[in-house]
Amino acid sequence: MFKKLSIIALGTGLILGAGGGWVQQADAQKPDWAGKGKPDHAGPKEKVENVIYMIPDGFNADYATNYRWYKGEDAVWDEHLKGLHKTYSEDSRVTDSAAAGTAMASGVKTTNGTVGLDEEGNEVETILEASEDQGKSTGLVATSTITHATPAVFASHVESRDNEAEIAKQMLANDVDVMLGGGKDFFVPESEGGEQEENLIEQAKEEGYTSVETQEELMDADDIDVEDGEKLLGLFADGPLNPEIDRESTEQPSLSDMTERSIDVLEQDKDGFFLMVEGSQIDWAGHDNDPTWAMKDTEAFEQAVEKAIEFAEEDGNTLVVIAGDHETGGMTVGSNGVYDTKPELVKDVTATGAAMAEELNEDRSNVEEVVEDHTPFDLTEEDVQTIQEAEDPKMAINHYISDEALVGWTSSAHTGVDIPVYAYGPQSDSFSGLLDNTDLPKIMAEAMKIDLADK
Ligand SMILES: [Zn+2]
Repeated sequence: MFKKLSIIALGTGLILGAGGGWVQQADAQKPDWAGKGKPDHAGPKEKVENVIYMIPDGFNADYATNYRWYKGEDAVWDEHLKGLHKTYSEDSRVTDSAAAGTAMASGVKTTNGTVGLDEEGNEVETILEASEDQGKSTGLVATSTITHATPAVFASHVESRDNEAEIAKQMLANDVDVMLGGGKDFFVPESEGGEQEENLIEQAKEEGYTSVETQEELMDADDIDVEDGEKLLGLFADGPLNPEIDRESTEQPSLSDMTERSIDVLEQDKDGFFLMVEGSQIDWAGHDNDPTWAMKDTEAFEQAVEKAIEFAEEDGNTLVVIAGDHETGGMTVGSNGVYDTKPELVKDVTATGAAMAEELNEDRSNVEEVVEDHTPFDLTEEDVQTIQEAEDPKMAINHYISDEALVGWTSSAHTGVDIPVYAYGPQSDSFSGLLDNTDLPKIMAEAMKIDLADK
């Protein structure tokens, strides 16, 4: 069925539009980079004005394949696949998000756990900072705390990713125009239950930020003028945002709403903008071996990518790059010796394994009740017993669901496999082939004709 869709798309100039519908795009309006397989040297390169860097943390081809079966058709990124990138860090063949992010933000490899510094501790310039230097406006969006490793590497420089209070201070000092995510605790003082010395939210307001804390307030903040020095800070939870599966029971915005609002604000800058959007929790799902969390947060990330591509289609000078920073969990497509995979079965699962484990009583006598309440599956006596006796009931529940969905896992940590790079827009073909994670920001800098150098 996937093949049929792509043939239709190629034959008639159909492109995937808003809301997943196929829309007609006249050949005459097609930008010249839209041609498939066009060589790099086929004419003068157009200057890219805006870059939207979309990072699904922990996502690899294994997630992409399972997600396609979950969805029942190609994901929005599938037709934009360009190449692969290597993810090893300065001190390990298996990277963490801080070292991976530093490489993807600055083009310099560093040691695991390090944010925005090279292996000798020197600050490295990031693509966000280089964009700021050219007068572009900048934004960071995440579903983790906004001070978590991946957003942090773009606008701060600290020895340890765990120092989120220091990261918060540096991110504010760095004047990022739009910051949306979780992590209010790192912006409010200890006297108010936070982990900061001073009230950074009050400080931010004095420096031109509008502060919002709910979906409604975010949507109402529609008059931020970046050209006039106005900025937007949205901290929607004390810690990370909820997993996508819980979102309707919260007042938090979706990743796609945060992406759309960021673009609305940043696109007013006549010098262009740089925006990084992270689907932070795909990685956490991988650590937990939770196929439901993985698929539903990938779906939320895809909706955000649709917003980015929709804007890029209209704008014409916007490059959208989508690349995970490493794989998490060693996910497999098919498991336990079975020649099949059924990730679509988790559509009817209504809670993460972690949330189900929280609902278990002390002697775990309610395993069957809790798991059957949140899943479409019937547990056998043996399944119940396995979860009751497991050292980690959350992992046992997730492995039970994974077995039903024929999704396998080989690790509870990151793995070192190469990761797909997808790109859409002018100069997107520059991302083809086998790249290194350090190549990504360098290619973006070249596309925007800006300098990216060690500080
Ligand atoms: Zn990561």
